[in-house]
Formats: sequence, C-alpha cells, structure tokens
Amino acid sequence: MEFRDLKTQYQRLKPEIDWAFTQVAADAHFIMGKKVAELEEKLANFAGTKYCITCANGTDALQLALMAWEIGPNDAVFVPDFTFFSSAEVVSLQKATPIFVDVEEHSFNLDPEKLEAKIQEVIGEGILTPRVIIAVDLFGRPADFDRIRPIAERYGIKILEDAAQGFGGSLHGKRACSFGDISTTSFFPAKPLGCYGDGGAVFTDDIEMAELIKSYRSHGKGKEKYDNVRIGLNSRLDTIQAAILLIKLEAFEKYELEAVERISKQYTNALRDVVKVPQIPEKYASSWAQYTIVLANRAQRDGLQAHLKEFGIPSMIYYPIPMHRQKAFEEIPNCEKDYLVTNSLCDTVLALPFHPYMEMEDIQWVVDHVKSYL
Ligand SMILES: *Cc1c(COP(=O)(O)O)cnc(C)c1O
Repeated sequence: MEFRDLKTQYQRLKPEIDWAFTQVAADAHFIMGKKVAELEEKLANFAGTKYCITCANGTDALQLALMAWEIGPNDAVFVPDFTFFSSAEVVSLQKATPIFVDVEEHSFNLDPEKLEAKIQEVIGEGILTPRVIIAVDLFGRPADFDRIRPIAERYGIKILEDAAQGFGGSLHGKRACSFGDISTTSFFPAKPLGCYGDGGAVFTDDIEMAELIKSYRSHGKGKEKYDNVRIGLNSRLDTIQAAILLIKLEAFEKYELEAVERISKQYTNALRDVVKVPQIPEKYASSWAQYTIVLANRAQRDGLQAHLKEFGIPSMIYYPIPMHRQKAFEEIPNCEKDYLVTNSLCDTVLALPFHPYMEMEDIQWVVDHVKSYL
C-alpha cells in the first residue's frame, strides 16, 4: 500500500502527461514558457485572487513574500510551533526573528488567543517590531482566519498564508491561497496539487507586491533584460512543471477534491468512536493534505505505527519535533510551558495513508488494523 499513490494518478493521466512531456521537449522553451503564464492565470482564478506568480518551490514562495515586505533584522514574525520547518526557516533566512506560537489541539492550527498574547509580549519587550503572522493551513484545513484577521488589523500586522498544504481547501466557500495579504503554496509531489519535482506559487491582490515578487524571482530584474535593480533569487517554475500542473489541476478540480472528501468521510465514520479524528467544522473544507489521528500517548502512537507496519500499512509522523525545540532555533529564547499543545501533538499524532485514488478495500484494511490495535 502506498502512503500517497502518485503512480496510480500517473496511470490515470498518462496519455495527456506523456504528450505534455514531448510537447515541451519539442518546443525547447524550458524556462518560463507559455504554459507558465497560462498556469498562473488558472491558479489565480482557482484561488480567487487577482495575481499568481509561480516560483521554484514553496519555501522560496514564502521567502519572496517576506522579501517583498522587506522583512529583516529586528522584525518579529509569528509562526505556529507545529508546522513544517520551512514556515520558520524563511524568517531566519531574512535575518528576522520567528516567534513561535502554540496551536489549538482540535484544528492543529495557530491558536488566535495565544497569538495575541505573544504579539503583546513582543510589544511589551520593546526590542522587535511585530510585522507578519505566518498562518499555516496545516494538513489541509485553513487556519482560523475569522479570528486571525481582526488581530492582524488591530496591531497593523500582515498575514502571510502558508497554504503549502491548504491548496484546494476553503473557509466560508472562499478558497485557500486567498486569505493572506500574500499567500503561498507548494507543488512538491506529495502536496494536494503536486508536480513532478519542485514548484511553488505566490498569490496576492496587490499589484505592487505582484510586480515586486516577479522581479525578486528573476534576480531582481528591472524593465529590460540584464537590468537588475535589486538583489533577488533564481526561482522560476520550469515549463515542464507548468504543463504537468495544468493537466493535474483539471483532475484536481474535476474529481480529486471530491474523492478526498469522500475518503475522509469513510475514515471518519469508521474511526470516530475509537480514536480522535480530524475535525473540519461546517464552514471549512479541507484539501486533506493529510489524514491525521491523535492517540492517547506516545507509547500508543508508536505501538500503532509499528502494528500497522507489520501489516504493510505505511504511516507518517507529521511532525515529531516542535519548532521551538529545533536545534537550528536554539538561540531563540522560549518557555516550554507556552507550547504544551504542540509538545503533546508531536508525541501523539499519526498520519494514515491517504490519497484520491484509495480503494474501499484499502481504507477498510487500514481501519481494521487501527481498530484491532486499539
Ligand atoms: C511543504 C511545505 C512547505 C515548503 O514547500 P517546498 O515546496 O517543499 O519548499 C512550506 N510550508 C509547509 C507548511 C509545507 O508543508
């Protein structure tokens, strides 16, 4: 059994994808070809934003946003303690300081009350300037933007939505990648919409930011070629990735999103009486980047993982280490008591095999073995 079955997806789309490969090779316009502009327009339409700027990966997408806002030394950027490393790494890369904030157990996402407390703490200390909240749509469920947006406005802070896992999700029918002042996603193969290598995108309604980010992704280019007006990155999306994403976006909209919704319900109905299952309130839709259950304690989690492995069922721990305990951030002072929820989640979460091509028998096989262990 595959944890995320990309081979079946390829078999389903093979004729179109093979044709795309040959077409791009024959065209020989490998970087920023026509397909890239076509994809950017489709992605902006899908997310409901005015502009989409593709780039080399989801980490660069986050960094490009921080560059456009000129985030740097003495700036504080608030990041969930429970997330993938990139969400905080880019802050330190810009020489700003990531301030870690605990998450809510039921959503796995930023806790708005603790966020506001951290903002006040930073203001009280008077050393760093609060500039940005990086709100991550963890495992596919959008962050609580109903409560985060008013906080951002109260303190005059920007929201950067890290929708690397959220692409395809929604809140009040509004799609992920549209909640930030700038939002980003990743097309890493295992993400909800993945390409055949690395890829990413930035979304915004702000034309000034869109123009700046276009410049930063291509060596800080000015109006003419070889006219460089700022220090930037080399972070473009390959034409071949755009061609593949155009095909996969169609499948994503047509049936993959529906399939993951159906499969998540099958898991939830079968497991909700034996274990803590993901909670997606009515107003949200998840893109189901992961289907994550929460066990009673670490021994039970590790025991279940070993038990599943015996029956050929792969599972993953996203994430085993809280951000504030990562060695790379050891110089940032913090208090363990501020991160009780994240500390506990890192010991108790387990992501089950999950993808749009999962068959009923596979779901049942996983469910049976989770149940037999518990
Ligand atoms: C995957 C991921 C990223 C980084 O994306 P890459 O394309 O791998 O650079 C950033 N944030 C989160 C939450 C992610 O899951």
